[in-house]
Amino acid sequence: MLDLERLRSLLRVATSFIHSRWWLRFSDRRRLEAWQARQLTRFLRETAPQAPRLSAFRGQPLERWPGMDKALLMNEFSACNSQNIDLQAALDVALQAEHSRDFSPQLGELTVGLSSGTSGHRGVFLVGREERERWAGTLLARTLPTRLLGHLLPWRPPLRIAFFLRANSRLYTTLSSRRIDFAFHDLLLGLDAALGALEQQQPHVLVAPATVLRALADAHQAGRLRIAPAHLVSVAEVLEEEDAQRIEHAFGHRPAQIYQASEGFLGYSCEHGNLHLNETHLLIEPEWLDQEQRRFQPLITDFSRTTQIIVRYRLNDILQLAPTPCPCGRAERTLAAIEGRADEIFWLPALDGSGLRPLYPDLLRRAIATAQANLEEWRLRQEGMDWHLQVKAVEPGKADTALRQALAAFFQQQQVQPATLHTTDWIPDEPGAKRRRLLLQRRPEGAPCTY
Ligand SMILES: [Zn+2]
Repeated sequence: MLDLERLRSLLRVATSFIHSRWWLRFSDRRRLEAWQARQLTRFLRETAPQAPRLSAFRGQPLERWPGMDKALLMNEFSACNSQNIDLQAALDVALQAEHSRDFSPQLGELTVGLSSGTSGHRGVFLVGREERERWAGTLLARTLPTRLLGHLLPWRPPLRIAFFLRANSRLYTTLSSRRIDFAFHDLLLGLDAALGALEQQQPHVLVAPATVLRALADAHQAGRLRIAPAHLVSVAEVLEEEDAQRIEHAFGHRPAQIYQASEGFLGYSCEHGNLHLNETHLLIEPEWLDQEQRRFQPLITDFSRTTQIIVRYRLNDILQLAPTPCPCGRAERTLAAIEGRADEIFWLPALDGSGLRPLYPDLLRRAIATAQANLEEWRLRQEGMDWHLQVKAVEPGKADTALRQALAAFFQQQQVQPATLHTTDWIPDEPGAKRRRLLLQRRPEGAPCTY
């Protein structure tokens, strides 16, 4: 059954795997930057100008190229890809797959990905066949621990990967082969539906959003799920420290992280558990959010893509740099955290009258997590000076008091005017929904921003 096409495809995955794993490993920042500069020159000369919107910039240095974001990419879809595909054609394929839950249809050779539209903007992204195969090789190379590499050898039983996501994609099933037994579990069907299949597969690697890993850890602790994965990977949601601890306690391994979005494969955690930006394959320009230059929104230029052209694309994420380099010695930047999205920053007027001050998601989460409120779940929404807090707590009355005290202390520490807090009962998410703890709906009026 191993026809020529399949062999070519396997070779591309394998080449990209070997190349990324052993060749493209930079410990010297200057060598990494020299590699990026060479890739970028080629990309800006040959690939990026194939998108009509960018053809006029051929030969110019990156600083002169225009920026883009999700809204622009959707509005000028056909001008932002090299194949002249229009938005409606791509959307038709993507929405059809969403509804039928059959994720195999493609647009010719192209895979169409739909990004989650938590902020109201749904994004559609195109991936070509060769890009997909290179991506699969790179992803495995960056995330598979050495102790599992042996499963890729032909005389060993295949590596078993279980994968939980809202939607499957050709992107992921590209990984499936004789060496890799890949099982996709549809989150829309709910978790209980997957427990039986999961036990039967006995995955070596378990990949899922943080909240799903936590729910599986709880099922394991309760004796409802008997699996012993050797490697756990958290995707698609912020991995909170309490969840990481619960998961590690249940399965004996701390979850690694993949920072992957439709926009690209953006980061991965190394053997020391620290998250690195995938700067070997992307150029990432930080747009600093604070004076200390620790928090930033990334502008990405993906010089490894050829269909969907991503140049100086502003991601809606807030990243926080680690204060010290990682002991693994990689030259790629180390992150302390993916804090969340730009609409998870809350704002309150500064006490000194200097305008609105940003309250970053990381700080908000910590203030609530350390409130001694014994919370099972919570969600916070800002509407001007009103903050709406939904909680699920063992003792709701006590939790309410503890949260009010903790937030009062937080406002004082941040030197901002206190918001009015409204607490209500917890309303559970739809199955398969992405966890969003924080949501800024409206900033307070009448005060200018401090930046
Ligand atoms: Zn590292």
